[in-house]
Amino acid sequence: MEQVLLLNISYEPLKIINWKKAISMLFLGKVEVIEEYNSEIHAISFTIKVPSVVRLLTMVKRNKSPVKFSRQNIYARDRSNCQYCGAKFPSEELTYDHVLPKSRGGRTEWENIVTCCINCNRKKGGRLPHEAGMNLIRRPFQPDWVPSMRIIIGFKEVPHSWRDYLYWHIELVE
Ligand SMILES: [Zn+2]
Repeated sequence: MEQVLLLNISYEPLKIINWKKAISMLFLGKVEVIEEYNSEIHAISFTIKVPSVVRLLTMVKRNKSPVKFSRQNIYARDRSNCQYCGAKFPSEELTYDHVLPKSRGGRTEWENIVTCCINCNRKKGGRLPHEAGMNLIRRPFQPDWVPSMRIIIGFKEVPHSWRDYLYWHIELVE
């Protein structure tokens, strides 16, 4: 039966729950109904429209964890784009580059590591970008927190009433 989008008090989508859970949260005073489906639930003493979007009345703190420093996360931060030539590569054709070379004391940390293609890496060698005549597309940085919860849903399955509440961190799969 119907699925319900649960929003935080801030209207940020948290997860998808089933309608029974949504109704019980409603009766416990934990949520308010934001959007409804046309279908109704008939109980002995009442009839209620099935909620499609409910919003928590108290804030749920999300467990945000710092982004782990790893090769895959470096590529993810830079969206698999070489930070010198700007081209996108599959991860097996990428490496990472110390902007300030290791040989000159450059550290292996978020602020000194960029995604780099093999050609650009070879070209740059142990030099600073300007010494190699190369420009960094973007200064490397420590990425922000990642959403702890990711909702993955097929685009065609998204009820119309949810669309206003779906944010970038919800991954829509074709
Ligand atoms: Zn490159």
